Amino acid sequence: MFVDLHLHTCFSDGTYAPEELAALARHHGLAAVALTDHDSVEGCARMAVACAQNGLEYATGTELTAEFYGYELHLLGYFLDPTHPRLLRELAKFQIVRQNRIREMVARLNHLQVPLRSEVVFALANCRSPGRPHVARALVQEGLCRSLDEAFERFLKKRRPAWVPKFKMSASEAIQLLHEAGGLAIMAHPGLNRVDHLIGELAAAGLDGLECFHVKHSAAASEHYVRLARQYDLLVSGGSDCHGLSKGQPLIGTVRLPYPYFAQLRARAWERQAGSACAPGPSAEPCPAAGLTVGQVPD
Ligand code: AMP
Ligand code: FE
Ligand code: FE
Ligand code: ZN
Repeated sequence: MFVDLHLHTCFSDGTYAPEELAALARHHGLAAVALTDHDSVEGCARMAVACAQNGLEYATGTELTAEFYGYELHLLGYFLDPTHPRLLRELAKFQIVRQNRIREMVARLNHLQVPLRSEVVFALANCRSPGRPHVARALVQEGLCRSLDEAFERFLKKRRPAWVPKFKMSASEAIQLLHEAGGLAIMAHPGLNRVDHLIGELAAAGLDGLECFHVKHSAAASEHYVRLARQYDLLVSGGSDCHGLSKGQPLIGTVRLPYPYFAQLRARAWERQAGSACAPGPSAEPCPAAGLTVGQVPD
């Protein structure tokens, strides 16, 4: 049994609706998935229903962009409560920052005589959490670039002329926020962020795990991060980072994490929830975090 714990939908920069993604997960024989849209948990409710219909286990989630000593890193939050008020307030702020950033990227493109309109990007994105892939797709759609790669290479990659830095919360604040919402904080694709030397300090700040298996990690890199996870007593995660068709071929099914890792992550989340805001009260209310009943013992 295998799982894929890094997937995006049309609620951020993926192209699939939750229902399409769940059907594909089933098609690929996956036993469980996690939804990790950038700065959004909007797709979580639909994904939960779609996964149930497809006989899949499911973890709520999101992917936050954070900063630690000037390094950018991405944090996956698993098993969080997608209705948690402070989480929703913070995500709403990030989404506004993203929308303003789109306007600024378009302004820079216009300054470069590239006649893209932000309305076109927003219409194409059709979500509250737009990002650079939407600008790239709009550039291709409007005939202003031949491919998504060209759009990134010429304009959107870091330090290219239409690139606009993104506001990032500190990694310790992001970890705290994910924990407060009942979730785990897992460093996404550590192999892409060159922050190995900070993992010890991040672990001390509450980081729960590393996404050791990722589509852009070589086998050697995956082994390296599994070793680091053991060294720092961190959980192991993995996923394809599938964005649907927005970056070429859909990647779902290309990274297959063995199911026991999912069970370990879930057990840690349950443990955390049982010890905090979701502690069983007199009525033993179901924990909202992942539709789980507090007191259930993970296998
Ligand atoms: P943003 O959150 O707006 O900065 O956009 C980040 C998204 O753009 C992530 O999903 C990345 O996978 C994607 N991305 C970053 N660099 C590239 C690239 N060179 N080509 C295609 N997609 C990219
Ligand atoms: Fe993305
Ligand atoms: Fe990422
Ligand atoms: Zn991602």
